[in-house]
Amino acid sequence: MEQLALFSFPEPPPPIEIPYDIGEKPDLTSYDYYIVAFSGGKDSCSALLHLLESGVDRSRIELFHHDVDGRNPFFDWPITTSYCEAVAKAFGVPLYMSWREGGFLREMLRNGTPTAPVIFEKPDGTLGKAGGDGPIGTRLRYPQVTANLQTRYCSAATKIDVGAAALRGQDRFLGKRTLFITGERAQESAARSRYASLERHRSDTRDGTRRVRHIDHWRPILQWSEQEVWAIMQRHGLNPHPCYWLGLSRASCAFCIFGGADQWATLKHIWPERFEIVAGYEEQFGVTIKRNMSVRDLAAKGKPYPSALASPEIARLALSETYNVPVLVDPQSWMHPPGAFGEGGGPT
Ligand code: SF4
Repeated sequence: MEQLALFSFPEPPPPIEIPYDIGEKPDLTSYDYYIVAFSGGKDSCSALLHLLESGVDRSRIELFHHDVDGRNPFFDWPITTSYCEAVAKAFGVPLYMSWREGGFLREMLRNGTPTAPVIFEKPDGTLGKAGGDGPIGTRLRYPQVTANLQTRYCSAATKIDVGAAALRGQDRFLGKRTLFITGERAQESAARSRYASLERHRSDTRDGTRRVRHIDHWRPILQWSEQEVWAIMQRHGLNPHPCYWLGLSRASCAFCIFGGADQWATLKHIWPERFEIVAGYEEQFGVTIKRNMSVRDLAAKGKPYPSALASPEIARLALSETYNVPVLVDPQSWMHPPGAFGEGGGPT
């Protein structure tokens, strides 16, 4: 399809890589805050469980969930927020939400406007707000399937930058040591295999003279296999996100740009009205998500996952906003979901 002639991209520079090797494993007794970037997927669940198995003081652990849709439902599973809340409650740790105003959809529809501000929940029950006064820019296209975070803008705009804003925007992190934990695994992509397991977080200001905060970024399961991830879920009897029960191998956005033909065919089958909206934007923009075909063609090439066809009640759960089934089950009867060990698409 034709590229939009009017497309412009006055964007902030990509994240700064801070070449600072601080070893492989942090001292897990030395931090004031242990913050898990928690999507509700198996990898962030495993990172949380690994902290608990490593004896980290539970009262210092928090989950940060970045709501990709920013309370403006469009691209993500409607159940995800409620599932994250259920996991947090089951393990007795607080969950704080953060999001870019208007979420994925508003960012995608930017047309001569700045990117929206970030909103984040704070422990005192109030909301913080940051940004919204950046350079004006125009998207009017879906994020593109590439490792370049400027054109694959969803990861930065709805997750990475949101997490950084929530850390920078809260004075409680000043003068403290914070460990920010994410669940990337090297096995998932060539790009991830090059990540450091421990480095300074991009919000770290330990060498500064004002607003000093020490923030390390740890990827504890970087070298884990998928078997190890499911094994820790089983040890704790943690029921995985409903999308794994539908047959997906990754709990990314429902309509993740990296999704393959079968995932798109599944979404078209279980959520036809939303699929129409998503496909309609491609046609409106004249720019497809995948480089060489529309999502309509992609979905037509695939087949819905058999487990999604066989389990309409799980599809209803995934598309609802209330997680009303057990989040913890007996580890003895815990089973791998149909999406385990499947083919997943790309980084998020
Ligand atoms: S899950 Fe996919 S669509 Fe959603 S933010 Fe990540 S890369 Fe983008």
